[in-house]
Amino acid sequence: MSIFDPLYSGQITRSFFYIGQAVKNILWEKSKHEHLTPAQVKVLLFINYTRNDAITVGNIAKYLSCTPATVSGVVDSLEKKDLIRRVRGLDDRRKVHLKLNPAGRKAVGVVESIGYEIEDIVSEFSSEEQEMLEKLLERISEKLIDIGLIYTGDICTACCYFKRDHYLGESKPHYCDSLHIMLSEEDICKECPYYSKN
Ligand code: SF4
Repeated sequence: MSIFDPLYSGQITRSFFYIGQAVKNILWEKSKHEHLTPAQVKVLLFINYTRNDAITVGNIAKYLSCTPATVSGVVDSLEKKDLIRRVRGLDDRRKVHLKLNPAGRKAVGVVESIGYEIEDIVSEFSSEEQEMLEKLLERISEKLIDIGLIYTGDICTACCYFKRDHYLGESKPHYCDSLHIMLSEEDICKECPYYSKN
């Protein structure tokens, strides 16, 4: 039986669908207010919260579940609005990274309040209910990540490849045992698409 059939008794799945719609609507409203599209907002947030060297068109495409060509179009439009700029890698000139311009940082400041509507609702639950909800949603998210329906990153400190203070005294004292790069304090607080908890 379809989850949209009124006789369907599995209310949980249908609720997820409705919550997804609400999140989409919130994103639309906030984007419209800033004269941006939801895709542009997602790209700005990705750039703001992801480690510099991981901000590539390919990683954004994975994050948005779309093609690199689509992302290039979104990036072009953000560049035209002077919200971001393309920068050639210092160590490898073939690599192009994306950076926020001052106007882009300002836009992020406005759009990143997305989600407070849901936070407000959840804050009315007791701490036990919140804890239970968090655990159950985490389990569902993990399953969806496993089957490739959610693309997510996390910060270094929770990653199995992270080596804290590997180069103590250096400006980038930490080390990534997977990408073989040194990491600063700022780097390790940004999301990384290569994160692994195993
Ligand atoms: S793979 Fe892990 S340790 Fe390496 S940069 Fe990404 S999150 Fe940090």
